[in-house]
Amino acid sequence: MLIGVPTEIKNHEYRVGLTPASVRELTHHGHSVLVQAGAGTAIGLEDEQYVAAGAEIAADAATVFARADMVVKVKEPQPQECRLLRPGQILFTYLHLAPDPKQTALLVESGATAIAYETVTDARGGLPLLAPMSEVAGRMSVQAGAHCLEKAQGGRGVLLGGVPGVPAAKVVVLGGGVVGTNAARMAMGLEAKVVVIDKSLARLKELDLQFGAKLQTLYSTVDTIEEHVLDADLVIGAVLLPGAAAPKLVTAGMVSRMKRGAVVVDVAIDQGGCFETSRPTTHAEPTYVVDGVVHYCVANMPGGVARTSTFALNNATLPFVLDLADHGHRAALARDPHLRNGLNVHAGTVTCKAVAEAQNLAY
Ligand code: NAD
Repeated sequence: MLIGVPTEIKNHEYRVGLTPASVRELTHHGHSVLVQAGAGTAIGLEDEQYVAAGAEIAADAATVFARADMVVKVKEPQPQECRLLRPGQILFTYLHLAPDPKQTALLVESGATAIAYETVTDARGGLPLLAPMSEVAGRMSVQAGAHCLEKAQGGRGVLLGGVPGVPAAKVVVLGGGVVGTNAARMAMGLEAKVVVIDKSLARLKELDLQFGAKLQTLYSTVDTIEEHVLDADLVIGAVLLPGAAAPKLVTAGMVSRMKRGAVVVDVAIDQGGCFETSRPTTHAEPTYVVDGVVHYCVANMPGGVARTSTFALNNATLPFVLDLADHGHRAALARDPHLRNGLNVHAGTVTCKAVAEAQNLAY
């Protein structure tokens, strides 16, 4: 099979669909790979590395789309990319179609087979191609929060770990899933005092077993949230209600009573955020202040560490890319129900129930 990797064209997107190491695996399996010139340059993955791994370099995206049997990307295709897709071609990337009728219509029109990273499942009910980005965002939330706590950033001038003789900062993590666990781990690593609040007792038990007495785990109630948020230096929002908007666990009233210069990092902002005062921000302007509390609400945090994110994503996507390339999409989808859950659009029809329901389409 010929696998194509175009350069990402969404604003400030520097990740790339395949690393040179992934290309090498594919060529080792007897496939051909066509990479657009400069696709990985922004994150230090040079064309020469792709060539050394067995790829051919194409001058432009049009050539990649025209020749590839399967296109592997990171972000959803932009309208001009959708128009380059053709019937029978496989597109494997993040799509996030439910709130995007325009992209859905263009993919339906293309006749291509579009498989979305975010709806591929695993045997434990998880989303294995979303998890790496949650790991990245969770770890990054603490480094972003630590930076925002510095005086020059509007923070209260507190060092997370304190120093001998001075207390450590208090970090409160709302939601102990993938983002929350990684955030807690990083905050503990910096020797902050860390509290995780979750409404799943099973999750709290797992965290307790994993981290022991170093981590305080608390059951999520309005009372607990209020008590600990008001006392926190850094609050990280990491809750998720699958398929729904994030619950507003922290009201504007609570924010107004937080310590001056405290920081909130709302990782759940891509689902609307779990602080009533949150609104999406960008890497160019990541923060704003409400009632003296610094808000960091970047909706695509992993994009800020595009190199790490690209490798993390490839580790998760490569087995599926190989499966699709080795067996063709029909056989690969037929034998793997979890990959099949990723199928969103096929030959002019929406094939994902959640997307069809969100847009009132036939399914
Ligand atoms: P997850 O499902 O692994 O964890 C979510 C946790 O929230 C679960 O443990 C759940 O029990 C808990 N929860 C739900 N309701 C709660 C409540 N009322 N009180 C306390 N806990 C509650 O999800 P995740 O992968 O950790 O993702 C968390 C959020 O981060 C999602 O909204 C995800 O989309 C977002 N995210 C954002 C970025 C970004 O760049 N901003 C990147 C990756 C993920």
